[in-house]
Parts: sequence; structure tokens; C-alpha cells
Amino acid sequence: MGSKKISIVGAGLVGSLLSIYLAKRGHKIDIYERRPDMRKAKISAGKSINLALSDRGWRGLQGVGIADEIKKIAIPMYGRFIHHKDGSTAFQPYGKKEQAIYSVSRGGINMSLMDLAEQQSNVKLHFDERCDALDKKTNRLTLYNTETNTPSQVDSDLVFGADGAFSAARLQMQLQNDRFDYQQFYIEAGYKELCIPAGPDGTFLIEKNALHIWPRGSFMMIALPNMDGSFTCTLFFEMEGSKSFASIKTKEEVLKFFNEEFPDAIPLMPTLVDDFMNNPVASLVTVKCKPWTFEDKIALIGDAAHAIVPFYGQGMNCGFEDCVVLNELIDKHSENWPLIFKEYESLRKPDADAIADLAIANFVEMRDKTADAKFLLQKKIEGRFSEKHPDKWIPLYSMVTYSPHIRYSTALREGRRQEGIMQQVMAIPNIDQVWDSEEVEMAILSRI
Ligand SMILES: Cc1cc2nc3c(=O)[nH]c(=O)nc-3n(C[C@H](O)[C@H](O)[C@H](O)COP(=O)(O)OP(=O)(O)OC[C@H]3O[C@@H](n4cnc5c(N)ncnc54)[C@H](O)[C@@H]3O)c2cc1C
Repeated sequence: MGSKKISIVGAGLVGSLLSIYLAKRGHKIDIYERRPDMRKAKISAGKSINLALSDRGWRGLQGVGIADEIKKIAIPMYGRFIHHKDGSTAFQPYGKKEQAIYSVSRGGINMSLMDLAEQQSNVKLHFDERCDALDKKTNRLTLYNTETNTPSQVDSDLVFGADGAFSAARLQMQLQNDRFDYQQFYIEAGYKELCIPAGPDGTFLIEKNALHIWPRGSFMMIALPNMDGSFTCTLFFEMEGSKSFASIKTKEEVLKFFNEEFPDAIPLMPTLVDDFMNNPVASLVTVKCKPWTFEDKIALIGDAAHAIVPFYGQGMNCGFEDCVVLNELIDKHSENWPLIFKEYESLRKPDADAIADLAIANFVEMRDKTADAKFLLQKKIEGRFSEKHPDKWIPLYSMVTYSPHIRYSTALREGRRQEGIMQQVMAIPNIDQVWDSEEVEMAILSRI
């Protein structure tokens, strides 16, 4: 059993889950969270934004026996439900019949994870405690209590920075390490959250078990279901330019834009104009950095180590997978922390870089290609081939989403190889007529 005194900065999704993993090993955990306790602040779980939880995330939750608890607040989504501009719709399954990703409210899952963490006698959560500094040499955290306006210092054996995309712990590593690689970039698009409320008696006004997409080329709106019958919509749209968040300023312009682009959504969104005018626009950042660890003292985990854009629905899943890998390495190296941290970084860094790149690429797929007939045909051919030869071909989406034993870096490499093959297959004359033929099957087989 472990006996370390461990501090975790951030009681978000990953910090809370990590605390459970470490507590089950006997370590003493203190989590320092900048915000007030969201369970007391009564943030409504149904109204907050929602996230797609998939197999890597479930594996992380199963590892500490809490998947069943979270399943109670999760809604399965079996595919994409596409809303075309002309009002027609189409359902595109994500994988095999039973395969789904799950919509969970961010607030809901965070609060559950905090509750489950607190059920461990050796986990203590401290709220309103902002990490202002972390001394790399002494492992001393400087905290500031934003309620009482008092600073304090905490010494620990290990510190985990789980404080999200704009991590203070990471900044401290950067400031105190003369060879700290750091890269941050924003994409052109930002996002705004909107809402489709529940129908009478909490009914779902559009298909419940799907992730809805309104793909419009350079931008898109999506909607994920909530437990109370509502949907959280997210409009991903360019920040600047002739058609962008910056160009839509008045209530009339909001309505005009939605009438042109999302006419079928307007009757479902009675508070659209007010929501659009009042809700903030947020930006989307990718962060890559290295090193993630320092000796046997400090490690970054979750978004603090690798913030990615949300288009593969993998940020939280990747962070939960960090916990799984770390836990396996603790077993492998029998609590030898220098070895654990070294291998944790060398294993996870290439995978985090891979999912960061895949996530950027998936924006184009979601906003543009889900409405493209040729792309859909390619996916159909891949799907059919994969059904016949599951040992030879797992589609990229399935590798990322439903195959937690395939590393993200392997999925990225395989996906590129598959794309090369499919480009050749799609160039076969009359492919739209012969797509289901033996000729096409052989063409793929011969190139694998
Ligand atoms: C629009 C959007 C949609 C997304 N959709 C998905 C999805 O569908 N599926 C998916 O898997 N992921 C998704 N993500 C990504 C997911 O939200 C993140 O990957 C996940 O929240 C990371 O968890 P974390 O614990 O590392 O960071 P966070 O959840 O950000 O938690 C960090 C915590 O640290 C605290 N903190 C920050 N600074 C300090 C400090 N100085 N001192 C103390 N505490 C501090 C914060 O208050 C917070 O509680 C999405 C992200 C966005 C923006």
C-alpha cells in the first residue's frame, strides 16, 4: 500500500477521478480547487454543458468501480443525426448496432466524481483554494483562499497538476524549467451554447439517442441530449469575418442567420435570440507541452498536459485514460515514482499529440463532410469491408472511440494508411455503382 502525501491541483473531471485511483492505493490525497463547491452552489446538472463519454472514459471509470454510478446520468447516442439545410434529415450510425457514445452533463459528472472521491476516507477536497505557485525544488504549493483572502503553503511528496487548459501548475513548470516546450494555438472558430428545451412532461423534441449535427461547410451547430429532456446546442462558428460571431450583432441578424442556416431548429428554440445575445462566445485552444513530469515530484494530467479541441469528443476521455495508464504503471513499477513518471510521460505524450491532431481534423469532417455524398460513400465502403474483415480493418472513428486498447498514436497512423487506400478505391470508375462488389473488396484487400 502507498503512503505518500499527495496534492492534486484542480477538482475537475480528471483531478477528481485521479484522487479515487490514488486513494484506493492507500495514499493520502488533498485536492485544492479554485472554485467554490459546485454541489453547494447548486449549478443545475441539466442546464450545464454536456460531453460525450466513450469507451476510453468508461474504462477509466470502471477501473475504480464507478462506471455504473455514472451510467445513471448518461444518455446513449448511437449515431449522428444530420439536419440538412433543406429540412431533410439522415441518421448515420457511429459503429455497430450496439455501439454508442454517451451524453453526460459536465456539472453532473463532475459532482458525482467529487461525491465518489469524498467517499474515500483518505481524500479531502478544499474549495476556494487557488494555486498561485508551485516550487519545483521543494514541492511546496502556494495557495490563496479566495473566500477568506488568506494565503497558505502546503508541502507534499507528489503534486499533480490537474487544473485544466490554463493550468497554473504547468505555468510554474514552464517558468522554472529552462527547456520547457510549449505550444498553444487557437482555431479560427469559437463556440456559443444555446438550448432546445424539453417538450411537455420532459419529452425530447428531437431524437433522444443521437448527436445532432447541422453541418454547414465552414461552421456547424450540434446538440446533445440532457436527462431532463432538453438539448444543449453548441454553435461552432468563426470568431471574425463577414459571416461570423463578430458579424451578427442585432436580434434581427440572429434571426436572419438562423432562418437562412438552421430553419428547422428555430421552432425548437424559443429562447434563441435572448440566448444568442446573452451567452458568451468561448475560444478553442490546443496546448502541447513537454515535459509533463519533474523527477518523482510533479506530474501534469488531463487538460493541463494536453488541451485539445472538442471535435472528437475525447478531451475528458483522454484525461481519464491518463489515470488508467498511470495506475497500470504504479502496478508495473511497484510505487517507484521516478520510473512511473518517466514512463507515464513517454507513453502518453505521443498519444496526446495524436488525439490533438485527430480532433482538429474531425472539425472538417463534422462541419463539412457529414453532408458530402462522396465521403458518406467512402464511409459505407469502409463499414462494409470492416464488417466482412473485422481483423483487417477497424474504421478510424471506431479505433478512437470504441477501442480503448488501441493507442491514439496507433489509430492516427492506421487512419492515415487507411485513407491512402481509400483514396485509391474511391478513384475506381463508377465507384458509386460498384461499391458493394467483389472488385472493390479485392481492391482493398490487395492494398492492405
Ligand atoms: C465545448 C467543449 C466541448 C467538449 N466536449 C467534450 C466531449 O464531448 N468529450 C470529451 O471527452 N471531452 C470534451 N471536452 C473536453 C473536456 O471538457 C476536458 O478535456 C476536460 O474537462 C478536462 O478535464 P480536466 O480535469 O483536465 O480539466 P477541467 O475539467 O478544466 O478541470 C480543471 C479544474 O481545475 C481548477 N483550476 C484551474 N486553475 C486552478 C488553480 N490555479 N488552482 C486550483 N484549481 C484550479 C478548475 O476550476 C477546474 O475545476 C469538451 C471541451 C469543450 C470546451
